[in-house]
Amino acid sequence: MALVPTMGALHEGHLSLIDAARESADQVIVSVFVNPTQFGPSEDFAEYPRDLDRDVGLAEGRGADAVFAPPTDEMYPVEQTIWVEPGRLADRLCGLSRPGHFRGVLTVVAKLFAIVEPEVAVFGRKDFQQSVLIRRMVRELGLPVRIVVAPTVREADGLALSSRNAYLSPAERTVALSLSRAIGVARAGFAEGERGVATLEEAVRRVLEEAGAEVEYAEIVDPEDLERPSEAESRHVCAIAARVGTTRLIDNAPLGGPSPGDEE
Ligand code: AMP
Repeated sequence: MALVPTMGALHEGHLSLIDAARESADQVIVSVFVNPTQFGPSEDFAEYPRDLDRDVGLAEGRGADAVFAPPTDEMYPVEQTIWVEPGRLADRLCGLSRPGHFRGVLTVVAKLFAIVEPEVAVFGRKDFQQSVLIRRMVRELGLPVRIVVAPTVREADGLALSSRNAYLSPAERTVALSLSRAIGVARAGFAEGERGVATLEEAVRRVLEEAGAEVEYAEIVDPEDLERPSEAESRHVCAIAARVGTTRLIDNAPLGGPSPGDEE
């Protein structure tokens, strides 16, 4: 059985994970849980879009066998005093602006694994640092689950699907397109032979800033340890977080290989 953990507000990106799960298992469970412990005090926990009836319809319409949508007190029956601490891999990228976020993510994912006992769990590449940390958690804690990471689903114009895209005004959506465009610039630079990490990062940052996005980070990192390499390689990942208006968006793709959207 395969588990697809989500926070609901399902879109085609989530539904593609159901397809990927189906390839690895004959039963697919989608969990829908807006996990309070992964939101900071000034983040959008209260506003996060919630519509369980719609999510159940979409998940079952895509072939999920069941939706697991526990109430908060079922996932946190007592005060949480024991946590899965992500360690130094969370002191990078999104972890810097979201202290405690990955501790909340890893803890709730470990709980979901304990409750659902999936053989396989499917996550999206869109949340790059999350996928790296979950793989490490499973490896380092020896959890009996196989992790599958599925490609990022995008709109035709390149925008990575996200539940938070719903917050964007039409003008902001145009600015938001700069994230995928900036990744395209890094990939094009790499394809033309540029191997300087700082040079590639500067080009990425320029695209974002010229479009009016407020850059939180724009980095080339090694997907093994999230460190900044001395020289760019195909497998290294261009990872971006930027604010468009009040909405925080992320995107990433490797410097080489098939173009994002054509990944297998
Ligand atoms: P969320 O509901 O935002 O916690 O996301 C649940 C899962 O869906 C995570 O594994 C995400 O990485 C994945 N996901 C979100 N957006 C996309 C997307 N555009 N393409 C593929 N997977 C996605």
